[in-house]
Amino acid sequence: MTHFAAIGAGFSGAVIARTLVEAGHRVTVFDARTHVAGNCHTERDPESGVMVHKYGPHIFHTDNERVWEYLNQYTEFMPYTNRVKTISGGKVYSLPINLLTINQFFGEAMSPAEARAFIEKQADLNIEDPQTFEEQALRFVGKDLYEAFFKGYTQKQWGCSPTQLPASILKRLPVRFNYDDNYFFHKYQGMPREGYTAIVEKILDHPNISVRLSTPFSRSQVKDYDHVFYSGPVDGYFNYELGRLGYRTLDFKEIRTDGDYQGCAVMNYADESVPYTRIAEHKHFSPWEEHDKTVCFAEYSRTCESGDIPYYPVRLAQEQTMLRDYIKKARAEPGVSFVGRLGTYRYLDMDVTIAEAMHLAESFLELTAKNNPVPAFFNEPI
Ligand SMILES: Cc1cc2nc3c(=O)[nH]c(=O)nc-3n(C[C@H](O)[C@H](O)[C@H](O)COP(=O)(O)OP(=O)(O)OC[C@H]3O[C@@H](n4cnc5c(N)ncnc54)[C@H](O)[C@@H]3O)c2cc1C
Repeated sequence: MTHFAAIGAGFSGAVIARTLVEAGHRVTVFDARTHVAGNCHTERDPESGVMVHKYGPHIFHTDNERVWEYLNQYTEFMPYTNRVKTISGGKVYSLPINLLTINQFFGEAMSPAEARAFIEKQADLNIEDPQTFEEQALRFVGKDLYEAFFKGYTQKQWGCSPTQLPASILKRLPVRFNYDDNYFFHKYQGMPREGYTAIVEKILDHPNISVRLSTPFSRSQVKDYDHVFYSGPVDGYFNYELGRLGYRTLDFKEIRTDGDYQGCAVMNYADESVPYTRIAEHKHFSPWEEHDKTVCFAEYSRTCESGDIPYYPVRLAQEQTMLRDYIKKARAEPGVSFVGRLGTYRYLDMDVTIAEAMHLAESFLELTAKNNPVPAFFNEPI
């Protein structure tokens, strides 16, 4: 029986391990942390009993039937629709910007067609070929909505002016001309009844999977396994010898009180003068539960330094150059494939992570059955 290693007990490592053991192999899963589920980890807060999303709010949403069915083997999904509010200039608005937001912001009662015509008038049509995030936003929605809802929030989230970010971040018109405030368009959306960690524990619950928590894995151990799937940071694998790929990290400031703190799960703060980007009140992610006490976390975004948890890859021109060099090194490294959000330095939603993990483990089995070489990347980082 061949023996593989999956580094990281997040969705990437767990789904790969499960697929391989079901094909008759043995897998050891390593994680440097004390728990499984990676950044999707959830645990009950001992004081309030609330299920807390330890590394920030996670809402499951997908159009992928296979991923949806896969997860439903391991959990019961409870109905949950992500509806976000934002405070701008001391007033509360509905997000994503929709007809309610527009009518409240401009103090009007416009119909969809009237609002569309109105926003078209606001748009700065002098900008013919938007190059930056700011130009793109001004071109789409005009100065007033841009300054109220995008400028400060984007500055806080990315730690730089929207004039320094590429236009591609804002791909399409970020406005809805109806009252739909469901954040996601996907067919399936929900929250696992017992949290994400319970799902990952069940995926990993197989006699041929051994899980080693609190155990960092290093490059020198690769030779001990028939193949390694590495879902840790690609630059970390090489001990940052070419430098650190840029990430944003988050600091969470805890807020505790009785009852209901803000009346919704996520309240964004659009103004630059407020130092945090949003407050998440975690009891509202489990609306089927009842808790007298509440716990919330205000999120502060900043540059990720050595020792911080990497959250969002920055991926600007400078990082892309360094990434290309790490990709070259990774391709020359025998016996290891780089997977998942950190291994490929991409932002990936959970459903994409799971779909990629299933596909790559299946491709791996096909390749090795035919004695074909295994690539360093099944999903290209660039
Ligand atoms: C703030 C935030 C909010 C998000 N919200 C959503 C959401 O609402 N919906 C959604 O679909 N997705 C969301 N995501 C994305 C989601 O977190 C990812 O899709 C998912 O975590 C990717 O899983 P992964 O296994 O690739 O990586 P991770 O979950 O990061 O797992 C990697 C694991 O590898 C371990 N590791 C790293 N290096 C080593 C090493 N050398 N040795 C041993 N272990 C190591 C780490 O400890 C970690 O546990 C969000 C992401 C962020 C940052």
